[in-house]
Amino acid sequence: MYSIEQRDRQLLNTSATIRYHLYFDEAPRHLVRVVMEIDAPGDELITGFPVWTPGSYKVRDFSTNAGNFVVMDGAGSPLAWEWTGKNKIRIAAAGAELVRIEYLYYAFERTVRTSHINRFHAFINPSNCLMFAEGRQQSIHHVHFHHDRAVWKSLATALAPVHEQTDGGQPAVYGALNYDILADSPVEIGNHFAVSFVQDGAQHDIAIAGHGNFDAQWIAERIKTIIATEAWLFGGLPYDRYVFILQLYPNQRGGLEHARSSVNMWDANLAADKEKAVQFLSLLCHEFFHTWNVKRIRPAELGPFNYNAENYTRMLWLAEGLTSYYDDLLTYRCGFYTRDEYLKLLATEHINKLAEIPGRLAMSVKDSSYLAWTKLYAPNADSNNRFPSYYLKGGVVFLLLDLWIIAQTNGTKKMDDVLLALWDRYQTRPETGITEQEFIELVHQATGVDIAEHFHEWLGSTGELPYSDVFAPFGLVLEEKKSERSQTFGEKQPFLPLPEKVYTGLKLKDENGKTIVSQVDDGSPAAEAGIGVDDEVIAANGRRVTSAKDIDTEAALTGLDTPMLILMSCDGATYETQLLPVHKTEWALCITDSESAASKMLVDYWLSR
Ligand SMILES: [Zn+2]
Repeated sequence: MYSIEQRDRQLLNTSATIRYHLYFDEAPRHLVRVVMEIDAPGDELITGFPVWTPGSYKVRDFSTNAGNFVVMDGAGSPLAWEWTGKNKIRIAAAGAELVRIEYLYYAFERTVRTSHINRFHAFINPSNCLMFAEGRQQSIHHVHFHHDRAVWKSLATALAPVHEQTDGGQPAVYGALNYDILADSPVEIGNHFAVSFVQDGAQHDIAIAGHGNFDAQWIAERIKTIIATEAWLFGGLPYDRYVFILQLYPNQRGGLEHARSSVNMWDANLAADKEKAVQFLSLLCHEFFHTWNVKRIRPAELGPFNYNAENYTRMLWLAEGLTSYYDDLLTYRCGFYTRDEYLKLLATEHINKLAEIPGRLAMSVKDSSYLAWTKLYAPNADSNNRFPSYYLKGGVVFLLLDLWIIAQTNGTKKMDDVLLALWDRYQTRPETGITEQEFIELVHQATGVDIAEHFHEWLGSTGELPYSDVFAPFGLVLEEKKSERSQTFGEKQPFLPLPEKVYTGLKLKDENGKTIVSQVDDGSPAAEAGIGVDDEVIAANGRRVTSAKDIDTEAALTGLDTPMLILMSCDGATYETQLLPVHKTEWALCITDSESAASKMLVDYWLSR
């Protein structure tokens, strides 16, 4: 039966019939030597590497990084074996009491979903580099870490320690009740900054890896606020211990959720920029929210997992859309945003961003979810025209759903109530995830609101979302954003008329001193002008273009009435075309001046904290 629940005490003093030994002698070359031991293998044993890692919907074929296989029995005699697919081997084990598989794994991809080893640390995602034994996934798995603990002093993981205390000379042994838990428990080993505390009745470990300039105490205090805010939302914490692995390296960002941990990667110098620091806190809120939504409350297709192939689901709007709505809302509830900042953010980062994606009119969010494996996780320069992200559109759908429920119940029910119903459902039947129909029924049970008709439309169609209808009861309106620039200079001296914000549908990048087209929006002036991705912009209105910024300035100064004459190059040959920019609308989410007491009550209920 599928379960990802594990308490530390369940592994204490256990033994395991599947054991991994990890050696780091060649860490500077990004290699880990793995020795996997399987007791009582039977006549034939099949072991394999997952081709993907849950939470990151792309086939990555981790077996690519493994090599130098040696397969033997307990006495060290070789056993016959062969590859039976890109990720699996079959071992003839008749008569052997034990099978020992030894291999090297090259771990040199710095992301939250892959493994990264160098002379300073090892970050290991077991789903990449530790093989599963077919038919044996439900048994206890142990991992023996053979690093030199005088050199790498700390180890952080949600895997459970097998011994209360480890002798310095012995390997550190950690365990998982089954392979799903092992695959879901990344490990950071090295000299990271470590801090632990108990909150809301559970142990919390924070491990901060990286060479950045950060204030660990400041981060730990904010994390305490996040834990308290989310524990309050769900009525407690669903674990005995949780590990925040933070990886702060230059120009990195990303996160991945696990049942008792999360990996949060961000730019090393987050303290240098307040806005970026708050975005990092929002990432922490996001990944921590996944402790409930995704790891436990989840689409039926996402757990149990098939590690050998894509696991398709039409419900990533629930997994990531709901989480995207709540990450900023929780950041606000934590007090990291003011109410005004939160409203501004909803407009700039959610509503305006979605409006800028032509693909929202080309594919439904359900299909975008189903095809995540070949769309969102395999983007190209044309992607924005073909589908909306289920994070972005899913998040906006949940904003609308929350407001819809609040308005329909006259400010007595909201998405929080749905979350509690979803959480209840998980606790009743943790082994199976939910379906779309079940979600709709749970909303009805929790709030009394029938969302079926609207919800099917919002998720299944490519039409625009009905902002004004849903916002109206709250006195909320989308107004065109006013320019914040002053019209005067010095002592009230008039400046030239400010150029209007214009839109060309052209996105450019600077590459080796050239200005190259990186994206052309469907139906935009640039598309009309016959400009293609990868073409080079040479001149605009007879003036040489030397950077991507030049063309935006030229377009703004030319205005809306006169076409720009553009000299372009494609395939080494030049062509001329005319580009006529159009007015660009950016929305601000405002509360109308004529706000009534009733609408004020609804807004206060929505944004109470
Ligand atoms: Zn997420």
